[in-house]
Amino acid sequence: MSENPASRRPLRPATAMVHSGTVRSGFGEMSEAIFMTQGFAYDSAQAAEARFKGEEPGFIYSRYANPTTRMFEERMMQLEGAGDARATASGMAAVSAALQCAVQAGDHIVAARALFGSCTYVIQNVLGRAGVTATFVDGRNLDEWRAAVQPNTRLFFLESPTNPTLEIIDIAAVAKVAHDANAILVVDNVFATPLQQRPLELGADVVVYSATKHIDGQGRCLGGIILSSAEWIEKNLADFFRHTGPSLSPFNAWILLKGLETMPLRVRQQTENASRIADYLASRTDKVKRVIYPGRADHPDAELIKRQMTGGSTLIAFELVGGKEAAFRVCNALEIVTITNNLGDARSLITHPATTTHKSLSDEARAAAGIGDGLLRFSAGIEDSEDLIEDFAAALDAA
Ligand SMILES: *Cc1c(COP(=O)(O)O)cnc(C)c1O
Repeated sequence: MSENPASRRPLRPATAMVHSGTVRSGFGEMSEAIFMTQGFAYDSAQAAEARFKGEEPGFIYSRYANPTTRMFEERMMQLEGAGDARATASGMAAVSAALQCAVQAGDHIVAARALFGSCTYVIQNVLGRAGVTATFVDGRNLDEWRAAVQPNTRLFFLESPTNPTLEIIDIAAVAKVAHDANAILVVDNVFATPLQQRPLELGADVVVYSATKHIDGQGRCLGGIILSSAEWIEKNLADFFRHTGPSLSPFNAWILLKGLETMPLRVRQQTENASRIADYLASRTDKVKRVIYPGRADHPDAELIKRQMTGGSTLIAFELVGGKEAAFRVCNALEIVTITNNLGDARSLITHPATTTHKSLSDEARAAAGIGDGLLRFSAGIEDSEDLIEDFAAALDAA
């Protein structure tokens, strides 16, 4: 076994995504090997004893760790600047493990209200049943974060940009409020990708991803990852992870390793396409009421975006004149852009949040979150932007 020599120097992201974490077997294979095995054999009973005692390095069981999965974790650690990581079977396995391992009965969580729906379920129902209470706040209002703190507050949780309205939360400012309260901040960084926002450098303690999105980036598999300092992972997550088993399959880890190789190219093209399409949509004032795109100067949080993010996002939210009917007509008239609820894919995708991803919210909650019946969420793919603009032009004309 040999580490790729390139990984001994600090690498820029595009290089790290191709090389970091690679470990070659004795065959010298070019593409990372898939160690599709449940466990590992020992040379002797003594060797097994030593490995279980932690006196001898080596893998024991793929629920704990696996060579292919570890390559994916190491590559993500390099990209994120994290001390350790655990890859999970899905993004929700990452969120629920990161939250469950950090709190216990009697503790309190403060979370931004604009969360991926399943994250709200985990906080309210899974942790609620376990005796953990929570307060939900407007993530953009620092006074609300401060006012929500209780003596038993242990954890803050947020995602930014938010889904689907692409609001931006000041991660550094919220981290400071959390730390002043002796709580940790966990950030779900899916929408920004590790290339456009670095929560650990902004003061977050733990970062979680759904690797299903930009990291795979080709709609093939589910995956997730939790990244933090080596101390935090060892103290909070290591045993929880071993014994509760949210582990990522080595096969899916391999797909995600391959995804990381091209992620910088894809995200760059997706962001360029999103930026062009956002400008086009904004020019169609006859059909489009408003465009929310973090790369545009008219985004309400433009100043914060400049400080916190290094790219304009691969996603656009826009509201049509004519509500649900117009939104459905546009979706159905698009020929290249596909109707689905994934995001970050090489293919351009469109979602009507009010009737799909956010349909379980009450009408009042949806209105408060700015998710009108005419709102669409667009995830830019890597196609030629001219084809995408022509697709939108024809679809808007049809609406
Ligand atoms: C998709 C998503 C998740 C959940 O990830 P899965 O891989 O689908 O389990 C969590 N948070 C955000 C922001 C997401 O977009």
